[in-house]
Amino acid sequence: MSKSLQAIRGMNDILPEQTPLWRYFESTVARLCDNYGYKQIRTPIVEFTELFKRSIGEVTDIVEKEMYTFEDRNGDSLTLRPEGTAACVRAVLEHGITGGGQTQKMWYIGPMYRHERPQKGRYRQFHQIGCEVFNLDGPDIDAELIVLTWRLWGQLGIRDAVKLELNSLGTSESRGRYREALVEYLSAHLDKLDEDSQRRLKTNPLRVLDTKNADTQAVLVDAPKMADYLDDESRVHFEGLKARLDAAGIPYVINPKLVRGLDYYSKTVFEWVTDKLGAQGTVCAGGRYDGLVEQMGGKPTPGVGFAMGIERLILLLETLEQVPEEISRQVDVYLCAFGEAAELAALALSEKVRDQLPNLRLQINAGAGSFKSQFKKADKSGALYALILGDDELGQQVIGFKPLRGQGEQQNIAFDALAAHLATCVVQG
Ligand code: ATP
Ligand code: MG
Repeated sequence: MSKSLQAIRGMNDILPEQTPLWRYFESTVARLCDNYGYKQIRTPIVEFTELFKRSIGEVTDIVEKEMYTFEDRNGDSLTLRPEGTAACVRAVLEHGITGGGQTQKMWYIGPMYRHERPQKGRYRQFHQIGCEVFNLDGPDIDAELIVLTWRLWGQLGIRDAVKLELNSLGTSESRGRYREALVEYLSAHLDKLDEDSQRRLKTNPLRVLDTKNADTQAVLVDAPKMADYLDDESRVHFEGLKARLDAAGIPYVINPKLVRGLDYYSKTVFEWVTDKLGAQGTVCAGGRYDGLVEQMGGKPTPGVGFAMGIERLILLLETLEQVPEEISRQVDVYLCAFGEAAELAALALSEKVRDQLPNLRLQINAGAGSFKSQFKKADKSGALYALILGDDELGQQVIGFKPLRGQGEQQNIAFDALAAHLATCVVQG
């Protein structure tokens, strides 16, 4: 195929055979968010570039080198959203829905765009589900977000494969003091730092903690620790969060090097990581961003949230073989009809059945075919039952009902009794 007719590198099709797993995942998360009192927000996929520069921060990987930015026909600089928090903040400010101190608990889902090197678990279009909470500053809500994700891992059957890492970045004052101490220490070891870290030391020194370079990591062993610089407010908040996680029975490890890639975090930061996916091990990440709304031009408004990467979680479900069998079955009943008269009767009958059983997944054979070929298709569809309508059945106004997965005998059912019969044998979602 010529190059122009291929999808863009790092941007994937999700094919019909894969979407049942996606929809299962998405509906599980959506239901959980609903149940915890979060309402969905939907924002555009494109925003003014300035929004991301101001919220994510100029000297972050995302803004420096990962954004899909272009000029539109008006000459405005626009960017495909690389993450979801910026738009949520913009939207609550634009619509004034947090300005009076109102609490907002919201969630979003959708594609995000980052120009990264594509590899397993890392794509240029990927999907996130995230939650954001505004105007609650206590550790109770940080804990709720983590509890919600913990429940999700439980429902998905992947709890044993993920680990919670936790840190506090403190208030901006305490982080400022820590930054000074860190810069002083690292500057004394400048020659042992990798090039990237030397650069970050000047632009965004906390990010040095995040380095993958072994030499720099060795230098960091004796570096000052954020925990020693936390002010009382941050310490009390962090202790409050830990106490709640303990109460909820959620295990965690404190990772003093956890800083997160985005500039806007304060106090709580956390990541759910797995060792089952190789290098792309973070499946969900979040934290508190108490200064962000004000930085974006609003009143001081505490905020906290997380985002999970759907592709990585889908990969994890597949790796751990935690794909429920029933989700790939899309058909309950497959109707085979033989001959023109039977086809017409089958259409009328199945529409009547659909009236009575709106949730029944009934597929009618299309494209005619021999008994053998229709039966093969019925079996391949995954249906539990086949319905068979030929001239003989039509003459008696009955339809053949045949269990395909070994549940009982074949029998004839009167047209009038079909819906009632199906209602007794098909569990309807
Ligand atoms: P990483 O360190 O893996 O680059 P990040 O810190 O850039 O992640 P966040 O901005 O916190 O990621 O996004 C939250 C989650 O979204 C990540 O934990 C991950 O699961 C997912 N994610 C981020 N970037 C990608 C990507 N390029 N492809 C697939 N999933 C991604
Ligand atoms: Mg990244």
